Amino acid sequence: MNTKNANNMMNTKNTNTTKKANFTRSKELFAEASRFMPGGVNSPVRSFKAVGREPVFIKRADGAYLFDEDGNKYIDYVGSWGPAILGHNNTVVKDALRAAMENGLSFGAATEAELTMAKLLCAAVPSLEMVRMVNSGTEAVMSALRAARGFTGRDKIIKFAGCYHGHADATLVKAGSGLLSGASPDSAGVSASTAAGTLVAGFNSLDSVTALFERHKQKIAAVIVEPVPANMGVVLPEKGFLEGLRDICTAEGALLIFDEVITGFRLAFGGAQELFNITPDLSCFGKIIGAGLPVGAYGGRREVMELISPLGPVYQAGTLSGNPLAMAAGIAQLGFLRDHPELYRQLETEAGRLFSGLNEIIRKKKAADACVINSIGSIGSIFFTGENVRDFTSALKSDTKRYAAYFSYMLDNGVYVAPAQFEALFVSASHGKNEIDFTLERADEFL
Ligand SMILES: *Cc1c(COP(=O)(O)O)cnc(C)c1O
Repeated sequence: MNTKNANNMMNTKNTNTTKKANFTRSKELFAEASRFMPGGVNSPVRSFKAVGREPVFIKRADGAYLFDEDGNKYIDYVGSWGPAILGHNNTVVKDALRAAMENGLSFGAATEAELTMAKLLCAAVPSLEMVRMVNSGTEAVMSALRAARGFTGRDKIIKFAGCYHGHADATLVKAGSGLLSGASPDSAGVSASTAAGTLVAGFNSLDSVTALFERHKQKIAAVIVEPVPANMGVVLPEKGFLEGLRDICTAEGALLIFDEVITGFRLAFGGAQELFNITPDLSCFGKIIGAGLPVGAYGGRREVMELISPLGPVYQAGTLSGNPLAMAAGIAQLGFLRDHPELYRQLETEAGRLFSGLNEIIRKKKAADACVINSIGSIGSIFFTGENVRDFTSALKSDTKRYAAYFSYMLDNGVYVAPAQFEALFVSASHGKNEIDFTLERADEFL
């Protein structure tokens, strides 16, 4: 890793301590925040509710580290849920932001930066012929689904149980154990009629997809999938699954949508679709492409994207879409990734040491009947179950109480992992041997 701040982080060796952290200031802030914001937070997973704790309030972040309001320091494996692939507070990104800021914050008019971003995205991801910038992953997915409906003239979509595609109404459906039955919403406030348009199949089960196409002939506009799900914990596609989806969609005249909001620019520069060599019709991005600013994008086949307004009848707009600061940050991060392809090998090496280290600990402690690791590239999950986790049903076998205890132990000892079992662990280019070793020592103490 050759950014300046990453090099600085090399000198932090052994400055972590294992003494119990003090959370006084975070507790005060949380008590007050809870009076003004639902649950004290602006996004639920930050609340630590799933692990039975109160959240820590973060003051700043640098490289692989988070620092909270009480002065505690953590090795961070959340990375803002993915955007911080180069590590926090990256110099390249910050310099680009500062320069852009000098020219003004938002114009509500066309800019060259948007063109630069669009060209970068299309060059990186072969299936992208045209792209539209939005402000979040949720918006990207919502808009891609609308485009798919507009293109096919069909109403229904298929998603997979356990895959998360943002909080738009149509995607807040998982059906849980009611696989293949009528979908019901996961959230209050989603109308039954909206939920009924979302059919739910089982990840890694092509049969469940085929059955839905048979039952809803000529009604299905698209199949949307996280090519590597990271929102039920990390689950790997089995051999032939993604290829099978491609074939089914082609045969049925439905669009295949890859939600690469996490996997894009992470599993490879060209995302999961490059890694697995599959060409989706549409793809959704977010997280990494904004480098920490609120950004999303969707794009794909020209004939589909040409239906988007103002060219075509599928309406989609955004006051701050393609915002100059967001574009500057994204262009800087993506440009850096493009110009340093060796980073992906480095990420895999460091993350590989973490995941194989965890596996080694599990073997050594003969804990394999209670603990499995799923990982690919720089993301992975530890599931507290002895079963192979290959879909939502098997992921749900995890002992979430045990995960909560693991989370608490790690947090109290300087390691910030996802505050929920069904989330990924993100390794950044700022995580080096010191950070991985420290993490493995703490995990060894707990497991
Ligand atoms: C985070 C995420 C989203 C939603 O993105 P937001 O920016 O939070 O709206 C959509 N899909 C996947 C796969 C995600 O991980």
